[in-house]
Amino acid sequence: MTTVSLGMPRLPGAGVPDVRLPADRPATGGLVDTFGRVATDLRVSLTDRCNLRCTYCMPAEGLPTLPKDSVMTREEIVRLVGIGTRDLGVRQVRFTGGEPLLRRDLVEIVRECAALPHRPELSLTTNAVGLDSRAAALREAGLDRVNVSLDTLDPDTFATLARRPFLARTLAGIDAAAQQFDLVKINAVLVRGVNLDHAAELLAWCLERGFELRFIEQMPLDADHAWDRAAMVTAAEVRDQLGTRFALEPDEEPRDGAPAERFVVRDGRGARLGRVGIIASVTEPFCDDCCRTRLTAEGGVRDCLFAHTETDLLGPLRAGADDAVLADLWRAAMWAKQAGHGMSDTGSGTDLDSSGFTQPERTMSAIGG
Ligand code: SAM
Repeated sequence: MTTVSLGMPRLPGAGVPDVRLPADRPATGGLVDTFGRVATDLRVSLTDRCNLRCTYCMPAEGLPTLPKDSVMTREEIVRLVGIGTRDLGVRQVRFTGGEPLLRRDLVEIVRECAALPHRPELSLTTNAVGLDSRAAALREAGLDRVNVSLDTLDPDTFATLARRPFLARTLAGIDAAAQQFDLVKINAVLVRGVNLDHAAELLAWCLERGFELRFIEQMPLDADHAWDRAAMVTAAEVRDQLGTRFALEPDEEPRDGAPAERFVVRDGRGARLGRVGIIASVTEPFCDDCCRTRLTAEGGVRDCLFAHTETDLLGPLRAGADDAVLADLWRAAMWAKQAGHGMSDTGSGTDLDSSGFTQPERTMSAIGG
């Protein structure tokens, strides 16, 4: 990984890394980039470890895990979230991974972030395996919302996609989340020949329970580097697939930077059943409206899922950098954000280079999805 390295040298001080930061970066205020976007939504990866091995994310044998001491501690996470919310305009914090439930101190992390003076909205993205025994504690600690990943309701297909036979455990986690939280969102990735034809059934199941389902286009962030544009299920196909059973009409409510294009779902007689979202990161990118900033489990700032550079905050933090230095590094990292992720429609097959795009070194589980 490289770090931001242009422009003015920094003044020496405790924990100040020996990097050059852009001379024209903002000295105060929020996480602005040169295109005028403002990042207010922080994704924090709590761990790179996961108990599933989803084919579009991790290899069957897993990935080498980070040494424990290179992963942010609870205190470090809370300190960085505190800087983000107090000094940098972060309003929403989503804990992710890897699988965040694998952190034994997750409830404490939530509790301490909820107690910050500029309390952000706190949410969790999880596969829900083990959530049944922790949902109440997470709610009590201050968690506001939960997004659960669920690609199918068929146990065999689940085991094929996740390479673990854990559907029943995920469903138990979803039940528990539904008892504790007002809104449960479900995220699904569709894979051609595996679960594409499960889409309408999954939507019906979510609508019956009042869950908001969002389909996510598969992105080239898999460890196997097997992503193939031609094989990827596009947002247009998802709409067609759902159209076999439901009528979809564009939701008039403004998206406000949210990645999902939302639709009102109606049955054959026109009765409103709920909503569904489709996140078309590849075919209909929403980079112009991106308001995300990310922290990896190792405390690196990423300005985009597809970035090739990271700015280390954890090293400086451990070396004694004060909050102002860390905020400055974070602002500089976001200032350098590119206009878009660079996946144009001209790339085909696995030849991402033909569209000028190369897959980042880190995979989704290592970035924090
Ligand atoms: N373990 C948690 C979970 O399952 O939700 C959080 C981490 S996981 C990386 C976050 C989300 O990223 C999941 O909804 C997962 O389906 C999605 N995801 C993983 N790899 C993906 C890929 N290559 N393309 C699109 N979404 C992906």
